[in-house]
Amino acid sequence: MSAVETLKAARAAGVHLGIDGDDLVLEAASAPPAAVLGALSRHKAEIMVLLRPAEDGWSGEDWQAYFDERAGIVEFDGRSPCAQAEAQAFACCVVEWLNRNPARSPAGRCLGCGDREHTHDPLLSYGAEPTGHAWLHSRCWPAWYDAWKAKAVSALAVMGISAPLHGG
Ligand SMILES: [Zn+2]
Repeated sequence: MSAVETLKAARAAGVHLGIDGDDLVLEAASAPPAAVLGALSRHKAEIMVLLRPAEDGWSGEDWQAYFDERAGIVEFDGRSPCAQAEAQAFACCVVEWLNRNPARSPAGRCLGCGDREHTHDPLLSYGAEPTGHAWLHSRCWPAWYDAWKAKAVSALAVMGISAPLHGG
């Protein structure tokens, strides 16, 4: 059982999980199954990471719920969504991460190459108020955007969300 599966199993068993300082706190009306308790203690560190909200306010659990919703997974259904739905859900998660972690940079300097604005090479702003703008040369935009997306993918991986291994 992975950390993500453990969380799902714990929730299915009626266990509410929380964080108190460095401790994982369990609340349940009745004793959870031993397999769930064992998995919880095995994956404690990873589960703490999943439960703790990141800077953008969303925890791994929030991301998992968003992913499941986008992939059209219905809890009581039990069947896995097709790879295409998972790929689409993952793409939605990346976009949502980018929205929740907007890039900002001070005007007058390119966020990509660090160079200033030149008359032949103006800086363009990307993004919108109130989240702010990132300033880039148009030629610096594609590489910077790829790197920003790669950051989203690795941040999501830490949260237990990863792209499906095989495509559609
Ligand atoms: Zn530049």
